[in-house]
Amino acid sequence: MSSFQTHPSVDQAMEDVQIAKTLKRIKHKILVFSGKGGVGKSTTAANLAMTLALSGQQVGLLDIDFHGPSIPKLMGMAGRRPDMDGEMIKPIPFVENLKVMSLGLLLSGGDDAVVWRGPLKNSAIKQLIKDVAWGDLDYLIVDSPPGTGDEPLSLVQIMKDLTGAIIVTQPQQLSVDDVRRSVSFCEKMNLPVLGIVENMSGFICPNCGERVEIFKSGGGEELAKQKNIPFLGKVPIDPSIVESSDAGKPFVYYNSDSPAAKVFEEMAGRLMRQLEANESKTDDDAETEEKHNGAIQRFAMPLANGMVSAHFGHAEKFIFIDYDVDNNVAVKTEEKTPPPHEHGVIPNWIAEEKTDVLLTGGIGPAAQQLLEQKGVKVVAGAPHGKPLYVVSKYVKGELEESDNTCDH
Ligand code: ADP
Repeated sequence: MSSFQTHPSVDQAMEDVQIAKTLKRIKHKILVFSGKGGVGKSTTAANLAMTLALSGQQVGLLDIDFHGPSIPKLMGMAGRRPDMDGEMIKPIPFVENLKVMSLGLLLSGGDDAVVWRGPLKNSAIKQLIKDVAWGDLDYLIVDSPPGTGDEPLSLVQIMKDLTGAIIVTQPQQLSVDDVRRSVSFCEKMNLPVLGIVENMSGFICPNCGERVEIFKSGGGEELAKQKNIPFLGKVPIDPSIVESSDAGKPFVYYNSDSPAAKVFEEMAGRLMRQLEANESKTDDDAETEEKHNGAIQRFAMPLANGMVSAHFGHAEKFIFIDYDVDNNVAVKTEEKTPPPHEHGVIPNWIAEEKTDVLLTGGIGPAAQQLLEQKGVKVVAGAPHGKPLYVVSKYVKGELEESDNTCDH
């Protein structure tokens, strides 16, 4: 056998490093998807991104809908070509802190029929991440095609640290059934559902301001309740949404006083509150918040590569999440480096951090006993998933008791 062999895995490793480098500079990566087309997913993604940008966040909007990319049109960028910065593609700024990229901005002729097979889509999505100069972002909002096909699957695989998904639905029962499938996709992928949005929910009369329920409203909200998922808001039907979208004028930017724009504001606020680690918040603030929001419990979890680890005593980091268990929402998240691994030191530290519940894959019996003596509830056998997902599972009573998975 020849000793000279090519190593495609080296290229792959370099690509992975580049992707990781890009993603490290993006704080929250959010996938927006829906069970089926036409429910207003792209509209929601674009206007949510715009609202976050208007709130001062650095935002990226990435469209991975290969068959019908609508973001360029919605953002008034159809036909434009991005500039290059050396080897990198510059995303097109709508405003200075909202950068947009879509395959539709890279392909010539909008009517080209391109046959996209799964692996091709996968490598194109990789390029839209690693070859685009996203820079430092607070939020990357990703508009995915409807359904749970190749694109969301690829994205979950490529962006290993995706923050979570937002599912857009309409109020009718049929759409809500589609959402159930979307929720189950997220569960399978260990991807937290950050919220459900009910779009085209009621009509607000432009003359008298009264709300008229056209399709019946509340289906998405009801499902969110059943599944214990945050409900982000009901966007009413507003003919100006169609008009402004068709004219390439992002709705919330040009209609900021409308009831629908207010819903996007509330939605962005809820999302930011859910996600932003309230690092600057003082203990006093936390106490006030507790009064307003219901019971806050503090969860601790050992981490390995951002996921809940099986090895309590050998974790590089611990994450502490203050969680509003009544409203199923995180109010504060912080990561800390544990003290050195010596007998009793880490359990004492966890207790001093005012932890109510420790969720871990595995833990030794001595450490467990010590924690319990100090009033910390210990739940072993937690899955190797994202911390927010594991906490929300626990709070919903869906964390199956399984064996202590620590092999140390
Ligand atoms: P999807 O991405 O789910 O296929 P779109 O965001 O492209 O859906 O929306 C489909 C159509 O519905 C577009 O013409 C859009 O302007 C319109 N639309 C979306 N949301 C609303 C709304 N709340 N009120 C009125 N029209 C809307």
